[in-house]
Amino acid sequence: MSDLLEGTSAVDVHCHGWRSDEVAALPQRGFLDRITMLGMCLVSSGLEDEGLREILELTTDTAPIAVAMADRLGAILGCEPTRDGLAAARTAALGDHRAYLRRLWADAGVDDLVMDDGYPLPRIDGRALGEEVGLRVHRVCRIEPIITEARDAAGSYAELADAFTTGLEEAVADGSIAFKSVIAYRTGLDVAEWSPSDCEAAFARWRSDGWTETREHAKPVRDALLRRALAVARGAGIPVHIHCGGGDPAIVLEHARPSDLFPVLAAHMDQPVVLIHSGWPWVEEGAFVASILPHVYLDTSLSTPWASLAIDSRLEILLGIAPPAKVMYGSDEASEPEVIWLSAHLAREALARVLETGVERRQLNRAAAARIGADVMGGNARRLHGLGAPG
Ligand SMILES: [Zn+2]
Repeated sequence: MSDLLEGTSAVDVHCHGWRSDEVAALPQRGFLDRITMLGMCLVSSGLEDEGLREILELTTDTAPIAVAMADRLGAILGCEPTRDGLAAARTAALGDHRAYLRRLWADAGVDDLVMDDGYPLPRIDGRALGEEVGLRVHRVCRIEPIITEARDAAGSYAELADAFTTGLEEAVADGSIAFKSVIAYRTGLDVAEWSPSDCEAAFARWRSDGWTETREHAKPVRDALLRRALAVARGAGIPVHIHCGGGDPAIVLEHARPSDLFPVLAAHMDQPVVLIHSGWPWVEEGAFVASILPHVYLDTSLSTPWASLAIDSRLEILLGIAPPAKVMYGSDEASEPEVIWLSAHLAREALARVLETGVERRQLNRAAAARIGADVMGGNARRLHGLGAPG
């Protein structure tokens, strides 16, 4: 294996928090099912169902990510890489989860998490989580829960927008390093421009419709509030993370592509926006957008680790088309904390293979390859978000 990226520090630029007591209380035999794309999505979109167990277990058994997790975690825990072997060994390890997770972070060189606080809800306190598990956890404030909290008490769009702005400012004062929007899960990424009267009328319709998530009623309000969030972020000097691409089955798939978001990105060219997931599975499109707009950044999550056998080709696209200085490693762990560990390993290994190939082809030299690798694993995220040095 290449030693090109040995010892590089990982910043996981997009992941979610967890409650370790809840992780330990889940049926341990289903661990591998919950870390596959299908299993994770069924949980996050609320579609988990006993009737789906058979197809889920069948697909898990040969899912490369589940095989990699079983083999590698089995080696760490000293157990058979089977459902039962892992269930017993993991139950024992989680008995002292503080020591167990610290061991995993050290093994994978993970130092910082950039944590989207919008899932799971209720919100997890990143500072407390960081102290518990021995990582620096930075808060990314998701804007949609602020809208949900403020809209019932608001008598008009103007009142909602004011309460929303106050919520965002409080999040900045609390140390949030970025805002995050999942408008792709609500009304789509084709964010338009609406007049104040359009917004007021849409707000009234949306409220009388019981806050049903329609493009007719909710969209003008959500579009205008995303623009407001961009304005507050610009004033605060922080980036905005926008979910871009596919996701779980709750996604508005017909309006989830990077090209849908392009007009609003082009209109905000001078401030940093991170396309979370790089537009997965349309990563070529995301990489293209980042190649022509100076402050559009990409995160590798979903490609790493869930593209599994295709991680290398996804990284080739991202690093070949977009400037590598704007590509940041992320996992989108949203189920079990071991995903943060596994994903950092898989990403670092794949990145080293891709960069070594670049050196072989004399498109890169070793110094440039090593710098790109260290920057993608952590340096770019540290620079963009003003995080401290590793260690
Ligand atoms: Zn996520």
